[in-house]
Amino acid sequence: MAASLQLRGAASGLWYWSHRPRWVAASLAAVCSRSMASKTPVGFIGLGNMGNPMAKNLMKHGYPLVIYDVFPDACKEFQEAGEQVVSSPADVAEKADRIITMLPTSINTVEVYSGANGILKKVKKGSLLIDSSTIDPAVSKELSKEVEKMGAVFMDAPVSGGVGAARSGNLTFMVGGVEDEFAAAQELLGCMGANVVYCGAVGTGQAAKICNNMLLAISMIGTAEAMNLGIRLGLDPKLLAKILNMSSGRCWSSDTYNPVPGVMDGVPSANNYEGGFGATLMAKDLGLAQDSATSTKSPVLLGSLAHQIYRMMCAKGYSKKDFSAVFQFLREEETF
Ligand code: NAD
Repeated sequence: MAASLQLRGAASGLWYWSHRPRWVAASLAAVCSRSMASKTPVGFIGLGNMGNPMAKNLMKHGYPLVIYDVFPDACKEFQEAGEQVVSSPADVAEKADRIITMLPTSINTVEVYSGANGILKKVKKGSLLIDSSTIDPAVSKELSKEVEKMGAVFMDAPVSGGVGAARSGNLTFMVGGVEDEFAAAQELLGCMGANVVYCGAVGTGQAAKICNNMLLAISMIGTAEAMNLGIRLGLDPKLLAKILNMSSGRCWSSDTYNPVPGVMDGVPSANNYEGGFGATLMAKDLGLAQDSATSTKSPVLLGSLAHQIYRMMCAKGYSKKDFSAVFQFLREEETF
């Protein structure tokens, strides 16, 4: 690491304090003033399915917002509620020294940070930049280096829990970054989540998220296959789900988010697979798992297969459906 953070983390001795460059001292002063100013405006970029309810929970906790979304309609209700809407990520950085980003992909996140009107163009020294998007851990590490060069702090904090948990403020945040900054991040993330877990250096939050979603995809496909087979063998789907959920096959996909229509209320399978966590986003996360498996030489046989299944689903018209629609997809494939 090149900049002030490494020095802050590593150099606790007197030598460091008496020899630190002037710009590092200025950056430290900025960090101190930022973390003490608890209800100063918070920047929020990306007000989509997840970002919208997350930002609203910050508002409920009394934080004024400075917001930006490339899709202006996404900002409307915040503007009507009296929050400040600006016209670029750079403008957010000019007005807020704590910023949360919640964007679809690595490409969008790089654009928001490093683009022509990106955060880095106007970021203040000592600012805390928290990225809650699910992106490639290698991209998080690169962004962190760029942010450090500007004397600011970057943390990756992807979430698990979906839109329902975002609304109720029950998300789980998996946080990677300098440990000394965790408390400052927790102050904001705790307004939007029930669990805020420190994972280690930058990128480890993304690593935890990617592993979780790879397992989720595999277990969802497994649940869909088992339910489909049981139905074909003449079992009532509700009875089969009940038996699975009192047996060793039980998992979140079977007992909380069952993919078979009619088995549970209040889940996407009860609503034509609308809402929830899109198959496209799952395919994206499985692609990130593939990239990470390649770079770490890790065997992920079922993860690879799950990736292919979700990519095929998206290509065959399921891209806007919830990822539990894999049950429907498999049933259609039976005709071959
Ligand atoms: P979304 O597509 O609903 O929202 C993303 C928002 O970002 C949109 O409003 C879009 O206009 C905005 N955006 C895109 N590019 C932008 C740019 N360059 N500048 C400014 N704004 C831009 O996505 P989402 O469902 O809210 O997911 C966001 C992230 O959270 C993704 O990385 C996803 O994988 C992750 N996630 C989603 C869920 C879920 O259930 N939806 C659950 C956990 C994690």
